[in-house]
Amino acid sequence: MDTESTLMITPSEVIEYLYCPRFIYFMNCLNIPQREGLRYKVIKGREIHEKRGKENREYLRKKIGCVSKAISVYLASPGLRVRGIVDEVLEFSDGSMAPLDYKYAEYTEYTFETYKIQSILYAMLIEEIYKKPVQKGFICYAKDRSHLKEITYSPADFDKAKVLISEIFDIIHLGFYPKKTQSRMRCIDCCYKNICV
Ligand code: SF4
Repeated sequence: MDTESTLMITPSEVIEYLYCPRFIYFMNCLNIPQREGLRYKVIKGREIHEKRGKENREYLRKKIGCVSKAISVYLASPGLRVRGIVDEVLEFSDGSMAPLDYKYAEYTEYTFETYKIQSILYAMLIEEIYKKPVQKGFICYAKDRSHLKEITYSPADFDKAKVLISEIFDIIHLGFYPKKTQSRMRCIDCCYKNICV
């Protein structure tokens, strides 16, 4: 988390919050990081995303019909209280823009719903920073023959993202101890299970 000036969370932290709200409490209120093993998987996946991104650059440009793109763009908004690096920011001939993110995963409904919120947050950042309309985004499943999934955002998507950000900052600022995840299967392998009461 960025603590230099304005506190900002990353799209990955929002995903962690959705997986279990208590992750935010343990990581940000008690400063207990997650196991390194989990982090390594994420980092390794990221390296592969970047390699695949370079390999597929021309193919994706043609398929999506974008006129230009920027790679690995750092976006931050103190107003939204969100920051992150999006794999690609795409621009289209009508002046609109879209985020594209590579995921080292196979396409499933579950992964799509998880990554969708990340894409919505990038869309909000792009809209605010570039002052261009962002109506859609893309997720490329690098482990699934670069399966490309398009997301059309609705106003409700942006409202939902704002509520999630607000809930996360309630935990961080107020030290609010959130409820456990509803899926108790997630507790079995959780690195916090011994302190989570
Ligand atoms: S043990 Fe379960 S409820 Fe507690 S932090 Fe881990 S996943 Fe969440």
